[in-house]
Amino acid sequence: MLKEEKRIDYNLTEYLLHPFSDDQNLAAIQIKQMIDEMPGGFFVYRADQDKKILYANKAMYQLLNCSTKEEFQELTHNSFRGIVYSGDWEDVEKTIAEQTDNHPNNLNDIKYRIVQKGGNIRWIDDYRYFVRSKNKEDIFYVFAGEKTQYREEMEKMNQKQLRHLEIIEGLSIDYESIFYVDLDKNTIQPYRVSSRLKKQFGEKYSFKEFNGFDKEYISTWVYEEDKEILSKVTNPEYIREKLADEKSFYVYYRVIDGENIEHLQLRVVDVGKDDHISQIILGYRSIDKEVRHEMEQKELLKIALEQAKSAIAVKNTFLSNMSHDIRTPMNAIIGFAALAKHSIDDQEKLMQCLDQIESSGTHLMNLLHDILEISRIESGTVSVEHEACSLRDILESVERKVLPWAKEKEISVTFDYSDIRHDGIYSDPQKLSQILLRLASNAVKYTENHGNISIIITEQTSLEDYAIFQFVVEDNGIGIDEHFLSHIYEPFERQKNTTLSKVQGTGLGLTITKNLVEMMGGTIQISSSLGKGSRFLVTLSLSIQHKQEPPQPDSDYSSFTYSPPKRILLVEDNQLNLEIEVELLQDAGFLLDTAEDGSIAVDKVKQAVPGYYDVILMDIQMPVMDGYQATRIIRSLSNPAQSKIPIIALSANVFDEDRKKSMESGMNLHLAKPIDLLKLLKAIHQMIQSSAC
Ligand code: ADP
Repeated sequence: MLKEEKRIDYNLTEYLLHPFSDDQNLAAIQIKQMIDEMPGGFFVYRADQDKKILYANKAMYQLLNCSTKEEFQELTHNSFRGIVYSGDWEDVEKTIAEQTDNHPNNLNDIKYRIVQKGGNIRWIDDYRYFVRSKNKEDIFYVFAGEKTQYREEMEKMNQKQLRHLEIIEGLSIDYESIFYVDLDKNTIQPYRVSSRLKKQFGEKYSFKEFNGFDKEYISTWVYEEDKEILSKVTNPEYIREKLADEKSFYVYYRVIDGENIEHLQLRVVDVGKDDHISQIILGYRSIDKEVRHEMEQKELLKIALEQAKSAIAVKNTFLSNMSHDIRTPMNAIIGFAALAKHSIDDQEKLMQCLDQIESSGTHLMNLLHDILEISRIESGTVSVEHEACSLRDILESVERKVLPWAKEKEISVTFDYSDIRHDGIYSDPQKLSQILLRLASNAVKYTENHGNISIIITEQTSLEDYAIFQFVVEDNGIGIDEHFLSHIYEPFERQKNTTLSKVQGTGLGLTITKNLVEMMGGTIQISSSLGKGSRFLVTLSLSIQHKQEPPQPDSDYSSFTYSPPKRILLVEDNQLNLEIEVELLQDAGFLLDTAEDGSIAVDKVKQAVPGYYDVILMDIQMPVMDGYQATRIIRSLSNPAQSKIPIIALSANVFDEDRKKSMESGMNLHLAKPIDLLKLLKAIHQMIQSSAC
C-alpha cells in the first residue's frame, strides 16, 4: 500500500470556532486571509444568547468607521448586538428567529441600522447563512453592506465568494488536494494540498502561476502513460474546450510510488456564474479502493464466465459422448432384434442375435451404472465404510472373477499376495475390490490374446495401527501413449474409441477408480509405454486389526434369515422393479406384501394388526401419494406399533438433498437404486435388530 496521505484540512467554520495554529490549518488561514481582503463586509458570530463575534473582515471594520480590530471590538463589545442600532434590535432578532425556523438554509436579507464609531447611523443590508458545526454549535455567516448604488454588485461578489466556499467545503470530504484557479489571471490558489503536491506551493500555500504548476508533480509521480493527459489539464484552452458544454469533467490517472500504483481522479469544476469560463476548482482524489473493487469484481466475473464456459463445454462433451455411447449399443439391440425376427426359423442365427442383444444390453447397463456411480461420487453421497474384513478374502474373490476373463483371451495371470503379513484389516471391501477389478479388467481388455498380466500385492511398512499396501496391476498389452496419459482420468476419455479398438468401454472406469482410491485416502500412479504394456500402482494405507475379528455376517445372505420369517411391506409403483425386488427378498427368506403407491401403503399399515409389518421399503416417486407423504402419515399414527415401523427409502434419487428429504419425512434410512442386495439385507437386519431393542 502507498503510505497514508497527510491531509491538510480546510474548514473555516471549525477554524473560527476553535482557532488553531499548527501548519495543518494553513489552508483555513489562507481562506481567512482571502476574506480579510474581500470588498464587502463579512462577519461571523455565534447564534446563542451572547451573539459573540468570532470574526469580522476589514471591510466590516470600515463599515463601522473603525480602523483596527481593537476599535471594532471596543465599539461592538465583540457582539452582534453591539453592531445593531438599539431601536432596531427587537425587530432584527425576531426576523432572524423567524427566518431561521422556517428557511434555515435560505435566509432573506435583513435591513437594519448600525451605529458607527463617532455616532453616525447608517442603514445596511445583511445577507446571511446559518451554519451548524461538527459539534452542533450554531453560527451565522453574515455578508453586510451599506445601501449604496454598488450594493447589488457587491452582493453578487460576496455570493460568488460564498459559492466557492461552499464548493470547497463540499469537496473537502473526499479530495486530498483542492485548488481554486483563475484562468484569466493564470493563478492557482491552494485550499488543501496532498503531501505529493505540497512541494510546489511551499509552507505558506502561496498563489502560483497556474499554467504548468504541476510539472514537477507529473514528472515525479505520474505513471508514464498518463503524463500527457494530466499535463493537458493545466492548459486553459483545453479546460475551456472541455467545460464549454459541461459544468465539470474528470481525468483519471495513476501515480507510482516504488512498486505500487495508485489510481486518482482529477475533477475540474467551473464555478463561475457567467458564460466566460475562468473560475475553476480542481479537486484530486484517490479512487484506489473503487478501482480495486471494480477490478476484483471484473476478475470474479471473468472467473465465473470461464467456469460457466467450461461447465458448458464439459456438459456438451458429456452429452455428445453419452449420445454416441448409448446410441451404439441401442442401435445394436434394435438392429439385432429386427434380425432375430427375420431369423426366427434359423436357430443358430437367432442365438447369435440374442447373444449380441445380451452383450449390448449388458454394456448399456454398465454404462448407466458407471454414470450413476460418478454422479453419486460427485454429489458426495458415497461414503467409505470402515469395517473389519479379511484382505485375503477380498483378493481371492477378485482373483476368482479375473481368471475367467483372462482365460477367454488365453492371457496368463500371476496373482501374488503372499507378502501380506496382516490379513485382518478395517476397510471398505466393496470399494477395494471394485478398484482392483476395474484395473484388472482393463489389463485384460487392453492386452492381446496370449499376453501376460500380473497382480501383485505387497505390504510395505506396517506400524502399530496401520500398514501401507501396494497393489500393482501390470500387463504387457497395447500400452498408453504419453499424450493420452495426461487425460486418462478424465470422464469419457479413451485412447481409441470402440469402433477403432474393437474393445468395448465407456472411458469412465479410471475416473471412478481414481475417485475411489482418493476417497480411501490412497494414490494411483501409471507408467506405460506404447506397444509394451502398462503398470498401475495403487498405494493404500489400511488400518490393521489387532486380534482377528470374527467374519462379518454380511459375506453370506443366509446370515440374515429369521425364524419365524419377518414381513416386509414393499411400496413400489414400477411393476418390473416390484417383481425383481419381491423375488430377491423372498429368496432371502422374507414374507412380502406389496403396495403400488403411498396411499395403499398407508391403508395397509392402518388395517394390519400392530406388529404385522417388521420393515417398510418405500419408493419415493409414486402416483397418488409419494413416499415422503406416506411416511409422514404413518409416523403420525397414534398406535406406536404402527407409527414406529422402520421405513427404508429405496430411491433412484441419490443426491444429498433427496437423502435429507427422506430423513426429514421420518424415514430411518435412504438407500440408492439399483438395489445392492447385500447392502439392503444388512440395512433390514440393522432395522430389525434396533427395533427389537
Ligand atoms: P474404458 O476402458 O471403459 O474405455 P477406462 O476409464 O477404464 O475406460 O480407461 C480409459 C482409457 O484408458 C481406455 O479407453 C484405454 O484407452 C486406456 N487404458 C486403461 N487401462 C489400460 C491398460 N491397462 N492398457 C492400455 N490402455 C489402457
